[in-house]
Amino acid sequence: EFKENTVIVIFGASGDLAKKKTFPALFGLFREGYLSSTTKIIGYARSKLTDAKLRANIEPHLNITKESLARNPNIVNDFFQLVKYVSGPYDTEEGFLQLKEEIDTFKIKRNLNNLNQLFYLALPPDVFLTVAKNIKHLIYDPHGINRIIVEKPFGKDLESARELQKNLAPLFNERELYRIDHYLGKELVKNILQLRFSNTFLNASWNKENIQSIQISFKEPFGTEGRGGYFDSIGIIRDVMQNHLLQILTLLTMERPISFDPEAVRDEKVKILKELATINQKDILIGQYGKSTDGTDKPSYLDDETVPKGSKCITYAALTFKIRNERWDGVPIIMRAGKALNEGKVEIRIQYKPVPSGIFSDVERNELVIRVQPDAAVYMKFNAKKPGLSNDMQLTDLDLTYSNRFKDFWIPEAYEVLIRDALLGDHSHFVRDDELDVSWGLFTPLLEYLEGPNAPQPEIYPYGSRGPAGLRAYLENHDFVFHTKGSYNWPVTRPD
Ligand code: NAP
Ligand code: NAP
Repeated sequence: EFKENTVIVIFGASGDLAKKKTFPALFGLFREGYLSSTTKIIGYARSKLTDAKLRANIEPHLNITKESLARNPNIVNDFFQLVKYVSGPYDTEEGFLQLKEEIDTFKIKRNLNNLNQLFYLALPPDVFLTVAKNIKHLIYDPHGINRIIVEKPFGKDLESARELQKNLAPLFNERELYRIDHYLGKELVKNILQLRFSNTFLNASWNKENIQSIQISFKEPFGTEGRGGYFDSIGIIRDVMQNHLLQILTLLTMERPISFDPEAVRDEKVKILKELATINQKDILIGQYGKSTDGTDKPSYLDDETVPKGSKCITYAALTFKIRNERWDGVPIIMRAGKALNEGKVEIRIQYKPVPSGIFSDVERNELVIRVQPDAAVYMKFNAKKPGLSNDMQLTDLDLTYSNRFKDFWIPEAYEVLIRDALLGDHSHFVRDDELDVSWGLFTPLLEYLEGPNAPQPEIYPYGSRGPAGLRAYLENHDFVFHTKGSYNWPVTRPD
């Protein structure tokens, strides 16, 4: 299953991502038996930490399950036996030489001829390249296997993304590079191709003849909460749309790959990205959150002291994509994302065309909902006769809620999935260079307009609301209708 004697080095080990995601994911893999106890994990950063301090930072974020403790009460200690911390700078050789010494000791102790190394860059983007260069010159094993995981952002527009790629490419080739988009590691995102292509009825109806509109939504219930300085230069479009939601869009709309081979899948993704029409800048809805109006006293975006005064940064956006191919011509694909909204969720809604009238006067449209988070679920809004003597219709559902349907299941965290894939050398759920290039090409003109001298003013929406007031009209203009007739009812508790 897993490779023995692998060295995993986490750069930026003192940071937020490392303690909340990277180390906990490695622990999760270890806990489930997917990481060999012959693995060596080295955390590297400038902060002067001891191994014990690093452990104290990480431990509160580990998911230590009862089952794993029952299997092995020492599981946490056993994991930290594999972990070592090395402190050193990113831009000079000294720390890297110490790191190399640590790795060489491991190599000798284990009697290895060559190394199997995974480097994880949990670092701010301005030090990516410096570290990548030092790895290449001082740590890389030309006779072994070397893989490097990099975190978003991969540039901030087409030009900077190309520049980064131009500088990284001579150091690590595409086989060695793993660009993380952690949405690709989420269970329900990984499931999209399976759902589409293993269900004949879905596959057969997956086209403009049957589908009226598609909606991909990302909703977050909190604002920047003091981290606005970072967010202000990014905005919601770069933060989640150009990467995570666009990845979902490609999986929903691409043609069937010839196999699940990573390159076959990624070839199809690039192809569909190239078929997306330029985003119409006049057809967008943009917003920024203001103070709450429901008595909860939540602050506005501009109240965040780390945000520049008068910022026009967008914390909400709804955009519509059109695809110029035979399958999708004319079907609007709405992407919407926002912070400080009424709830947190990520979901996909595929709304089908209306049923021809005639025998029916008022049946509702079918809608397939894929809920990525929270509570993984797939449900189809489905018409049926009301039970009993009446012939009236009722909108009901075919429902696959994972927690009801599957017992004793484990949905791995996205980072667990992706780190394991990288350890196995599987690129399926990572972003390829050409994919990145087309996606930045698609978003860059819109970003330039939104950040240029004639930038439109975002509409202010209250913290904790559904978003800008124009949302409902925007969705309706793009062929998404609500099930307003009141017949749809989701019982909060269901009989077993
Ligand atoms: P972070 O905590 O700000 O930085 C990680 C470590 O890098 C810090 O502990 C610090 O370690 C070092 N560092 C910070 N600023 C530096 C600077 N200006 N120059 C040199 N070193 C610096 O970042 P993070 O939140 O862990 O994120 C790491 C990467 O993952 C970023 O690219 C981020 O965009 C991406 N990411 C993060 C998250 C998340 O949940 N946090 C999610 C998705 C993607 P030392 O001072 O000890 O060297
Ligand atoms: P819904 O909550 O009725 O929402 C349907 C769509 O209409 C969403 O895109 C929603 O936007 C939008 N919308 C609703 N009212 C709106 C308004 N006033 N203005 C603008 N947009 C509006 O979803 P549903 O699928 O019909 O489900 C109803 C409830 O049943 C939900 O709570 C759902 O979680 C639950 N349910 C659960 C399962 C399951 O767990 N398996 C299965 C079926 C239904 P927003 O996304 O912004 O709200």
